[in-house]
This record gives sequence, C-alpha cells and structure tokens, in this order.
Amino acid sequence: MRKIDLIVIHCSATRANRTFTVEALEACHKARGFKTTGYHYYITKDGTIYPCRPEEMVGAHAKRYNAHSIGICYEGGLDASGNPADTRTEAQKRSLLELLKSLCKDYPHVEIVGHRDLPWVKKSCPCFDVKKWLKQVNFHI
Ligand SMILES: [Zn+2]
Repeated sequence: MRKIDLIVIHCSATRANRTFTVEALEACHKARGFKTTGYHYYITKDGTIYPCRPEEMVGAHAKRYNAHSIGICYEGGLDASGNPADTRTEAQKRSLLELLKSLCKDYPHVEIVGHRDLPWVKKSCPCFDVKKWLKQVNFHI
C-alpha cells in the first residue's frame, strides 16, 4: 500500500454557469498525456461523487505531492465572468464532507489542504479557504 498523509482539494476551474462532466474531465486529462483522470475523485454540481483514479494509484494533480496524496476535485471554481469564486453547491459541500469523513477513517493521519495551500502554487485553486471551511463546519480529523 502506498502511504497517504495528504488530501488535496481542487476545483476544475469551470464557470458556474457551465457544465464539465466527468467524461469531459477524463478526455481533457488524457489529452494532456495522463493515463486517466489525474484526480482520485470528482464531485459534480449535483453532488455526485465519481471515483476516477484508484486510491492505490499515484495521482496527477499536485506537483511534488502526488506520491503520498489523494486528489479531490469539484466542478466549478469560477464565477460566470471567469473570476475565481467558491461556486460549490450545497450538494457539493455535503458530498465533499462525506468523502473527507470516509477518507479520514481509512487514513487517520491525513492532512487536508487546498491546492493553493501547497508551497510554490500560484493558482487560486480550489477558490476557497479549506482550513477555514473545515473549521466552520466543525470538521475534526
Ligand atoms: Zn488544483
């Protein structure tokens, strides 16, 4: 088993008024030369959690951190004009929490961060403050 001590949350950088299906995501990542979707999970606006890459497989989502992490991505992250925004629907927030809870049971020593919280990352991904949100929803590992 590979050692997992980090969960990295991403957004797909999709405008809130657009749709980016799990199939479109896979096609996009394959076009970039990945074997399959770089993330392990994808959560669409309706709150559906799609398992993409098996957890045992090293992801392709966070440079220098892939070997020991799991990547979760939600559909959205940009407002209708293309500016970074927390566009998560209530269903997405619920599903994300549910997924984090279950992953934390499997990997009790895991840290949860947003992509932008990693050093050298100059993106706004996932367009919300992960630590602050986890505190708000009273999430404890
Ligand atoms: Zn990201």
